[in-house]
Amino acid sequence: MDLRKIGEFGLLRRVRDWMRASDPSLIQGIGDDVAVFETKGKALLATTDILIEGIHFERTWIDPYHLGRKALAVNLSDIAAMGGTPKYFLLSLGLPKALPLSFISRFYRGLKEMAKPFQVDLIGGDTSLSKELVINICLLGEGKKGDLLYRKGAKIGDDLFVTGFAGDSALGLKILQRRGLKGKPRGLVERHLSPWPRIELGQSIGRQGLATAMIDVSDGLLIDTTHLLEESGKGVRIWEDRIPLSRLFRKHISSYAKDPYALALSGGEDYELLFTAPPEKRSKVSSLAFLHRVPITLIGEILPPQKGFRIVRRDGKEYAPSHLGFDHFK
Ligand code: ADP
Ligand code: MG
Repeated sequence: MDLRKIGEFGLLRRVRDWMRASDPSLIQGIGDDVAVFETKGKALLATTDILIEGIHFERTWIDPYHLGRKALAVNLSDIAAMGGTPKYFLLSLGLPKALPLSFISRFYRGLKEMAKPFQVDLIGGDTSLSKELVINICLLGEGKKGDLLYRKGAKIGDDLFVTGFAGDSALGLKILQRRGLKGKPRGLVERHLSPWPRIELGQSIGRQGLATAMIDVSDGLLIDTTHLLEESGKGVRIWEDRIPLSRLFRKHISSYAKDPYALALSGGEDYELLFTAPPEKRSKVSSLAFLHRVPITLIGEILPPQKGFRIVRRDGKEYAPSHLGFDHFK
């Protein structure tokens, strides 16, 4: 058996089994957006993400400045998904010998600009020679134990909400791949190159105690919903025509894909928040959307696990999706 058969998440299920953690101060180990452990009554958070040239990005369509911003943003998004506060990060780089110093300095400028508004500091890392450019960030943070939100916790009958718009980043990537760094419209390209982590919104959702479970959308709406469902042990029904599509997405999607919803459902890297909340919290959710000036859309309902994953198409027909989204090994 190889990785193609079990996929990234089949592998992680096994790793979780091989390396079962036992320390009582560990609140959440493998299986969520960040790990959570407790010291002296405080919840500490840790998360890490790797970006590899040729796999996650190509230097033909992302410049070093945006790469620096994005490397940190994707980690910040995982802390946002818990409702936590980011604090410090470590950065490890694998660098090809011929890489110009100006590339690295621009990368650090992007990194610094993303770190500033969230008041996170670089505190260390590691550097090595590498064939391709490799970037790994480990981000540490903190949170109040009672405010943090996990992937587990969704209840039958809960609403499923998503922030922002779905699919913009995936369409932005298609534009970059076809047209390069000068690709247009910039609005969509920027959504891919410069995602903005929903830190404040995630914290508000956590503080107000209105959600039961939360995850960020990094791999795609379908696959990240599946992760939330797996940890919560539930099923879901999503209404395709409720999925929020931006004006730019609607305008440009037809040049790149026949079915706008296929890309909105499977496309990754939007770094929006996906959360569940009981229906009686709907007006609180609307107030939050207004306050943070972010659309928050009700796209589905949580079902008992035996119902599985159901999508209601625009014509009213229900189906179970066969292809969920991105998996590195499949
Ligand atoms: P995210 O997309 O939010 O970064 P992932 O889906 O990548 O999360 O990871 C799911 C869980 O598996 C997380 O808890 C992550 O820390 C853990 N994980 C990923 N890769 C490994 C690995 N090689 N060894 C141990 N844990 C891992
Ligand atoms: Mg995540």
